[in-house]
Amino acid sequence: MELVFATNNAHKLEEVRQILGDRFKVLSLNDINCHEDIPETADTFQGNALQKARYVKEHYGYDCFADDTGLEVKALNGAPGVHSARYAGDHDSEANMTKLLHELEKKSDRSAQFRTVVALILNGQEVLFEGIVTGHIATERHYGDGGFGYDPIFVPDGYSETFSQMSSLGKNLISHRGRAVRKLADYLKQL
Ligand code: IMP
Repeated sequence: MELVFATNNAHKLEEVRQILGDRFKVLSLNDINCHEDIPETADTFQGNALQKARYVKEHYGYDCFADDTGLEVKALNGAPGVHSARYAGDHDSEANMTKLLHELEKKSDRSAQFRTVVALILNGQEVLFEGIVTGHIATERHYGDGGFGYDPIFVPDGYSETFSQMSSLGKNLISHRGRAVRKLADYLKQL
């Protein structure tokens, strides 16, 4: 089965292809010659994921899924949330982490969670899947070989390493996106 994943992020494509396996041919936006910026103007993850999936369906005709993800920090009332990519600068992970570490300097509660919502449009139906991983924000960056975004400062519950320090397989097993995409995979497999 061919399905478009509304992204060009190589990290995400790799993660999702690993989870969905050979039964599904996952096409990227590049693969369907979609090179424009798809609007993401909603104020919820669900709204943004649906907006992206509907855009691909309406403009390109493909069945599709799209995700929206963010980091929600308790002491900051859920910020950066839907603004995670542009918290301090446009997709500038270093600046985003610096701002977050600064905002948390005087807070004792450093608990946080990553949340992903995946919106699928298939055979005229819209279905949503959610994945959450809880954890806390470290007091400084800990880099490893992998990861992106806020990974160097996010420590998942039950672990002492940051997401950056885990293998991509280890991260996929417990991550927000891994959980949401496995729900998507379970749904697709029972069709
Ligand atoms: P997106 O909706 O998946 O593009 O995610 C928005 C922002 O959240 C990204 O630009 C990253 O800063 C952050 N983010 C998403 N997923 C992850 C992850 O797995 N690890 C670390 N940061 C992430």
